[in-house]
Amino acid sequence: MDDRPLLNRRLQGLGTTIFAEMSALAAATGSINLGQGFPDTDGPEAVREAAVRALRDGRGNQYPPGPGVPELRTAIADHQKRFYGLAFDPDTEVLVTAGATEAIAAAMLALLEPGDEVIAFEPFYDSYAACIAMAGATRVPLTLRAPDFRPDLDALRALITRRTRVLLLNSPHNPTGMVLTREEARAIAALAVEHDLLVVTDEVYEHLVFDGEHIPLISLPGMRDRTVSISSAGKTFSFTGWKVGWVTASAPLVAAVRTAKQFLTYVSSGPFQYAVAEALTLPDTYYTAFRDDLLTKRDLLATGLHDAGFTVHTPQGTYFITTDIAPLTDSDALTFCRTLPNRCGVVAVPNSVFYDHPTAGRTQVRFTFCKQQRILTEAADRLRKAFNG
Ligand code: PMP
Ligand code: GLN
Repeated sequence: MDDRPLLNRRLQGLGTTIFAEMSALAAATGSINLGQGFPDTDGPEAVREAAVRALRDGRGNQYPPGPGVPELRTAIADHQKRFYGLAFDPDTEVLVTAGATEAIAAAMLALLEPGDEVIAFEPFYDSYAACIAMAGATRVPLTLRAPDFRPDLDALRALITRRTRVLLLNSPHNPTGMVLTREEARAIAALAVEHDLLVVTDEVYEHLVFDGEHIPLISLPGMRDRTVSISSAGKTFSFTGWKVGWVTASAPLVAAVRTAKQFLTYVSSGPFQYAVAEALTLPDTYYTAFRDDLLTKRDLLATGLHDAGFTVHTPQGTYFITTDIAPLTDSDALTFCRTLPNRCGVVAVPNSVFYDHPTAGRTQVRFTFCKQQRILTEAADRLRKAFNG
């Protein structure tokens, strides 16, 4: 073998995801895992039973249709109509994917040429950097800065060049919890129209907005035919392991994304697709109870972190709280997170790894609150004892 690295240069430096590293550390040390964002309680029993029924009835046990089972595509279109008044044709404008992760990957692989630039909010959700790199394109960060992480729209305008092809936007935003306001969404949409850009929107936390409202960019003037809207059942229904996601977009954009998607997984999650179709029809009371439960948990953990001495940036949405550890220690976020489990039996995630600018998130640490209240209380107690007394 020659000395050429086995891993190609596009993937150099991407290593192991921070979620895998920190969840492994939680398991190895028996710590409370407030790192990787997955609930410690499964979603509704009726939805789980729907999956069991589908398995038993032999629905989805063999390859489902490439674009997704018709029942789910129809349920996704109905969901877009019910919550946002948006009409999509289930046959040509909806695509089921292996989680939002595959939808993002397929969108990047389908829409980008090598040399294209993609502007995304920094800190980035980690798969964005990898998918943009795999497509041979270049990521261009628009840095969201504490304490409120609002996007600087003049800075966004200044980042747009002749090579800019895609805006990859995430609201509610992981990890900061920022939710775009209507004015911000409108201003971003106007820039996309002015510069004739494609927009890919990651909306997996669409039903977890505590302050403000979720505005799909695809609903704004001039955006219907230039936006690939992405969401997923994982967060909304608390079944992150099922990996059922989807794209809603114009027929030509869906066709483009489908072309890439069919050579990634082709299809996935057969029986779970039927279960998610049923989940999407749950009454409004499900969605509001889900949000209210997470709001209570947000406030519980925010208070606990504040009492422990962290600077807390209360999120408007998602199930993550970004904190600043500067009042507690001189160490950087990665070192802090690697030593936290041994210090007090709690795992968190360093936001610093989601930034290109090396100093921008140096002391930011993210905690998830999608855990049972007694677990959050116990974690907060441990942190308070370790840092504040
Ligand atoms: N985007 C963001 C912002 C996320 O936090 C996640 C994690 N759920 C994903 C995409 C991936 O979603 P999925 O599990 O449906 O692939
Ligand atoms: N979305 C989850 C988070 O941000 C993690 C998903 C993953 O492990 N890739 O914590």
